[in-house]
Amino acid sequence: MDFADFADRVAAIEAEPADLEVTSLVADLFVDAGADLPVVARLLLGRVVPAWDSTTLDVGPSLCHEALARAAGPNVTADDVADRLADAGEIGAVAESLDLDGQQGLAAFGAADPEPLTVSAVDSRLRDLAAADGAGSHDHKVEVLFGLFNRADSLSARYLARLVLSEMRIGVGEGIVRDAIAEAFDVPVAAVERALQVENDCGAVAVRARDEGVAGLDAAELVVGRPVSAMLAQAGTAVDALDAWESVAVETKFDGARVQVHHDPAGDTRVFSRNLEDVTDALPEIVEFVAGIDVPVILDGEALAVDDAGDPLPFQEVLRRFRRKHDVARMREEVTVEFRAFDCLHVDGTDLLDAPLLDRRERLADVLSDGLSPLAVVDDAEAIADHEAAALDAGHEGIMLKNPDSTYTPGKRGQNWLKRKPDVETLDLVVTGAEWGEGRRANHLGTFLLSARVGNGEFATIGKVATGITDERLAELSDRLEPLIREQEGTEVDIEPRVVFEVGYEEIQASPTYGSGYALRFPRFVAVREDKTPAEADSLERVERLVGERS
Ligand code: AMP
Repeated sequence: MDFADFADRVAAIEAEPADLEVTSLVADLFVDAGADLPVVARLLLGRVVPAWDSTTLDVGPSLCHEALARAAGPNVTADDVADRLADAGEIGAVAESLDLDGQQGLAAFGAADPEPLTVSAVDSRLRDLAAADGAGSHDHKVEVLFGLFNRADSLSARYLARLVLSEMRIGVGEGIVRDAIAEAFDVPVAAVERALQVENDCGAVAVRARDEGVAGLDAAELVVGRPVSAMLAQAGTAVDALDAWESVAVETKFDGARVQVHHDPAGDTRVFSRNLEDVTDALPEIVEFVAGIDVPVILDGEALAVDDAGDPLPFQEVLRRFRRKHDVARMREEVTVEFRAFDCLHVDGTDLLDAPLLDRRERLADVLSDGLSPLAVVDDAEAIADHEAAALDAGHEGIMLKNPDSTYTPGKRGQNWLKRKPDVETLDLVVTGAEWGEGRRANHLGTFLLSARVGNGEFATIGKVATGITDERLAELSDRLEPLIREQEGTEVDIEPRVVFEVGYEEIQASPTYGSGYALRFPRFVAVREDKTPAEADSLERVERLVGERS
């Protein structure tokens, strides 16, 4: 396909406002693309290489301006191009407005390269550009771009310029490409979606759909060494998780950087960042850590900076190591990085994307005995809160809540992984009662009755808090509150209103259980407000206001 024809089709796509129509136009283009199908599919998304390949063209605006100016002839300078850009606002419009092919006869490059500007010629030139590195690469890149612009008609120049600056922006996203592949080759969208997740290359998937249909799409497999997009998490609450699933897998949320580790004992080990960038050389500890695994694996996890005691350091510390190309050995002395694996996508020839989380975790435990992120399967809010308190106490960011039955969906920010949201707000409530604990906690007050202020030294109960409190803290609170006990009935005690707790919660509900007419859902102890007297605690009026704001 001539690049000029491609550019015409792209212009029609760009001009079409309706998504469904855009999908149809893209599908038609795919049907007509012939041997250029994989390249066309990638170019529509502004990509020269597949998504799994983090190679970039590495062309900055000034280099592009220089090449455009040369192609436009002696009367146009790179500064002129920059000025026009300031007016036009986007490089495509500038390239389109320049008289580029007028230089054809004069161009040394053009003379040496008389072939027509086809889609595949553009693709191979741009790949050549991506590969150029080191001394002299600037001049070489200008030369290559000049050669392309010099042979481009105005519409082609518009899309070429946008392509090289990664600003394609024609209203075609991954969803449209997926749907267009399905429409063009009459295959189910779900099959295309899955193949895209596994293969991470819309060009290869389009070819599978066209040449082999559903069977070809289903046959797409992970390849050790070729990264897939990471599964992502949504913000969510413990209540969301418990409402949605029968039980909840709770994991520590590490404050590090996501890594996907591809290890082949017969080949090499590569470590990829969340953007699928190869960061292997910067993180030799991770390579060493998985070196003993004797089968090919793809592991998902977090690179975590730790101090000498093995305790987590903030995320910024990992960043100091992450993309480092020089002085890796010295930096390794300064910041120690450890791997915490939380998922397993492939083991020894078997893809695990479609296996439930708990099965994947079992396979993970088979291949890695150390460095596993802890996982607990629980079914009540209190257990979740206890895990959260323990994770926070150990210096971690919080917890992740995962659906134990969920499959691994690369690139998806679905509802099966929830990062527990920190509390939006907290309430400062007065402790007006408590209950003695049981078992190990029998000598301590365990559950605390909380009340909101209603005026004139009166308080109305609104909930009980028992979670989020470590044993040590519980002993302290008990010592503090015992002298304030006014009455006792069974294990329940009435406490003089003197101490104010800061309490987090997920929701306030109307409820007949407590005197205030409200109840806190999933209350958690945050701190004792040493600086507040009961008269300064939150009032029932504020609680009512908060409920009103939500509804
Ligand atoms: P966020 O970056 O806030 O969207 O949170 C999601 C990120 O948390 C993931 O991309 C991981 O890098 C990180 N993370 C830390 N621990 C875990 C875990 N146990 N499971 C999944 N992701 C985790």
